Amino acid sequence: MSTEEEKAQIAGEEEVTIFDKIVAKEIPADVIYEDDLALAFRDINATAKVHFLVIPKDRQGLTGISKSEEKHKELLGHLMITAAKVAEQENLSDGYRIVINEGKFGCQSVYHLHIHVIGGEQLGWPPT
Ligand code: IMP
Repeated sequence: MSTEEEKAQIAGEEEVTIFDKIVAKEIPADVIYEDDLALAFRDINATAKVHFLVIPKDRQGLTGISKSEEKHKELLGHLMITAAKVAEQENLSDGYRIVINEGKFGCQSVYHLHIHVIGGEQLGWPPT
């Protein structure tokens, strides 16, 4: 099993990502929130006691945050609000971290915009 760093070296844009398949229910996921625009599900490789991802159901060209434009303002706001709402649902009242990995150096391995929400325990800082 390769590390996230190794995966990020070879990852790139795909027409259909693994997250599209989760949205389409073609592959299973532990979904904890869903609405018209967004889906939240537990990360398969959790880095803390609580680790979930918030994704747009339709990525609208947002392979990563670097592709964001004015037209994505409403969707991006909705994803952030959803992250906070689901964090509350997950009882992360002592705090949590939101992360968006971008590109190879940022360790991005899936090119479908996603927000990591990590918490449930004391986190360290700075991240490496
Ligand atoms: P990235 O490295 O920021 O692109 O994050 C991708 C994340 O997706 C990683 O934390 C993976 O563990 C997670 N992931 C990949 N495939 C699945 C899956 O099928 N279900 C849930 N999480 C996944």
